[in-house]
Amino acid sequence: MIFIDTHLHLDERIMDSINKLSPNYGIIIGTDKQSNEEAIKFCMGKNNFFYTLGIHPSEASNYSNSDLEFILDNVSTSVAIGEIGLDYYWKNDNKEEQKELFEKQIKIAIDNNKPIVIHNREATDDIYNILKKYDERLKIIFHCFTYGKHELELLLNLNCKFGIGGPITYPKNEELREAIKLLPIDRILLETDSPYLSPQEKRKELNTPLNIPLIARKIAEIKEITEEEVITKTTLNAIAWFDLKV
Ligand SMILES: [Zn+2]
Repeated sequence: MIFIDTHLHLDERIMDSINKLSPNYGIIIGTDKQSNEEAIKFCMGKNNFFYTLGIHPSEASNYSNSDLEFILDNVSTSVAIGEIGLDYYWKNDNKEEQKELFEKQIKIAIDNNKPIVIHNREATDDIYNILKKYDERLKIIFHCFTYGKHELELLLNLNCKFGIGGPITYPKNEELREAIKLLPIDRILLETDSPYLSPQEKRKELNTPLNIPLIARKIAEIKEITEEEVITKTTLNAIAWFDLKV
């Protein structure tokens, strides 16, 4: 049973674990100029890693046009544009700049027929309204879905899948687990967001892509299906959605 961690970040402190991921697969996520460059370099010559390119909303007031040009120059070998989106938790005095950067990258994705990986913090309504404008032409991944039924029902209207990770194991997230019961397995992708958001039983350690089975186990428990079924189906979902050459 092969799994795919659809969302991880390169980090010096977890490189040993990342290098042990084979025969499983991982998608390295870019967030700014430097991480985009590092993702490309890391994936070169490796069959079990892919990368996305994007500028995170936290960079909305700092990025330069050459950062976007870099994405354009390398988009053909990426599997998605991301992570991109809106983050009103971190900073909410530059909403217009965030939206402008978000839409510029949505257009790159559409022009190049790539899915988009969405970062959303306290910005569900604005993200929904922007995506709705382009929906038919987009394949969307809501990375790190941590909301409840209300948001889920809204977002399910879009052409999207949901990245589910460590937060489903946290004791306080009962509403999230209730939402996952309503989420069809064919809309789920597994992700760790390493090195962040370690599953509950590893909460004191940095997260690594090797923790994907802990997330699959929790989804299996919530949905009353087997862990094998969760892994098999979500692996196929990821291959299809990101058009992975595996
Ligand atoms: Zn991330």
